[in-house]
Parts: sequence; structure tokens; C-alpha cells
Amino acid sequence: MPAPLADLSALPPVAPELWARLAYSKFRARFHLGAKEQDYLASRGLPAVMRHAADFIATRLAPARPARDGRQTPWRGHPVFIAQHATGTCCRGCVAKWHAMPEGEMLDAQQQGYLLAVIQAWLKRESAPEQGNDEAEAVK
Ligand SMILES: [Zn+2]
Repeated sequence: MPAPLADLSALPPVAPELWARLAYSKFRARFHLGAKEQDYLASRGLPAVMRHAADFIATRLAPARPARDGRQTPWRGHPVFIAQHATGTCCRGCVAKWHAMPEGEMLDAQQQGYLLAVIQAWLKRESAPEQGNDEAEAVK
């Protein structure tokens, strides 16, 4: 049974404590968009990039036992991949640890929507650093 697709038009709010938790992780905090990924995001636009994200999450992460789990998210090549490593949404082990969604069960549309909200908020924070992170969050 394939996982359902999340509704990108109705993403839930992200818990603000998440950003503080992620900032404490040296591993997570070192991820940032490179020039290539910034360009990709700027030229394609956030809505198109988020449609890719919804597809990645539904196909590579949401199944109860994703293929190559733990290695399914490349380290570069798409802004969403970077966002996934930065936010603990890269594999089911990280999703369990960072977002308390148990391994071994399919992620439903609502759970996927939350992970997509996290990815989208991170992308907004990365693409608007001059506004300060809190304000970048507020304009969403
Ligand atoms: Zn991971």
C-alpha cells in the first residue's frame, strides 16, 4: 500500500522548541544551503521545491520500511535533501529520534504534513537569513 501524499496547502505549525533542539546538535546545525541549492530554490520557487519534498517524503520516508533506510537521502543535489539532514527528517531513525514518529509504521498524511512543515520552515529560514530567524518564521 503506497503512502498517501500530504496536503501542502494546509501544513501545521512547527513547535518552536525544535529549532533550539536542532541548534544544540553540532551535526544538524552545520547543514546549510550551498550556492547551487540557493539558486535552485530561488529559480524554481518554494512551492515547486515543496512539491518535490512531498514526493520525496511520500516515497522515500513514509513507507513502514523504506528502501535503503538510513541512506535514502543524498547529501547534496537538492535543497530539500540538505533541509532533511538539517532537521532530522532524513531517515526513519532520525524521524523517530527528532520527531517522535515510531519506526516500522507508515507515516500518514498528517505526519508527513508535519515533516514537510519543518522542511519548509527551515528552507524559509535559510533563504531569508538577513531578516533574522524569528522574523523569517513569522512571515510564513
Ligand atoms: Zn537520518
